Amino acid sequence: MTKPILTIENLSIVFSSPDEADIEAVRQVDLTLTPGKTLALVGESGCGKSVTARAILRLLDANAKIPHGKILFAPEGAAVTDIAQLKQDSLPLRAIRGNQIAMIFQEPMSSLSPVHTIGDQIDEMMTIHEGLNHKRARERTVALLDQVGIPGPRERASAYPFELSGGLRQRAMIAMALACTPQVLIADEPTTALDVTTQAQILDLLRQLQADFGMAMLFITHDLGVVAEIADEVAVMYLGDVVEQGDVFDVFARPSHPYTQALMSSIPKMARKADRVRLNPIKGTVPAPKERPQGCAFTSRCPHAFEPCQTIRPERTDMGNGHHARCHLLTRTPAAEEMA
Ligand code: SF4
Repeated sequence: MTKPILTIENLSIVFSSPDEADIEAVRQVDLTLTPGKTLALVGESGCGKSVTARAILRLLDANAKIPHGKILFAPEGAAVTDIAQLKQDSLPLRAIRGNQIAMIFQEPMSSLSPVHTIGDQIDEMMTIHEGLNHKRARERTVALLDQVGIPGPRERASAYPFELSGGLRQRAMIAMALACTPQVLIADEPTTALDVTTQAQILDLLRQLQADFGMAMLFITHDLGVVAEIADEVAVMYLGDVVEQGDVFDVFARPSHPYTQALMSSIPKMARKADRVRLNPIKGTVPAPKERPQGCAFTSRCPHAFEPCQTIRPERTDMGNGHHARCHLLTRTPAAEEMA
């Protein structure tokens, strides 16, 4: 079995404000990334997916802290580093960030510098992290732009982000993330802002690059269709909790948490007119983290909520084959069923 390269253990992230009590945005999350595999982190907006991903690179806002938990980075042949313990802007953190662990953001226009050419921005990654001179860095940049399918890579290296289409900008962003051959790639909704054709091309590209580079990938999305396309494993997040996790085929075949089931039944399906059924959206919205129910995070929207859900947080139930979920229904005894 391949050794994990990144292990998140019991990670909590808290935001503080001068006027209110601390708000726990992510609570006791466990995730594992393995070389060559993709873990999809899925859930609605506001569930803590991006905050969790940004914590891996310590790119959290100044008022965020990690009160407990570990982010263990274990590259092949090197000592294990707990990223959660590294000081902001310390040398070890800068050596990891953008180099061994890289990130692709949802909207390249807000992540790429508008006043530098694409080529200069990618060159810089290699001059900083690998000490390449400008000429060698530019050769690598051109090769990378070619590898991610940008036509006329040498000319495009001299273009500014606003001169490229959305799809080409996202490809340039991917090239930048891959500049230092990272062992872990975090892709934060990289296809959400793209049309479906470009989205399919980017997913194909990421799959191909993962096969070429053997990197582990954490793919954040709210789209279960994308999860089915790209992931080996899936973790479903709701209000800062991982409520279900497992092999992607297993979770799709037997979704066990009511939130996962609700996400699946809200996917539009192709059908002949006579067989069409109305979409079944999840009622309500994700509450703000400061309004998190005391017990199960999903209580306020769950159609199956019963007495203990309000007050007791469900434990993780092992469903076998590495599949687990947090729901009281999974541990409800026949005697309790009768009383309910
Ligand atoms: Fe619903 Fe209760 Fe299960 Fe939470 S623990 S998902 S409220 S049934």
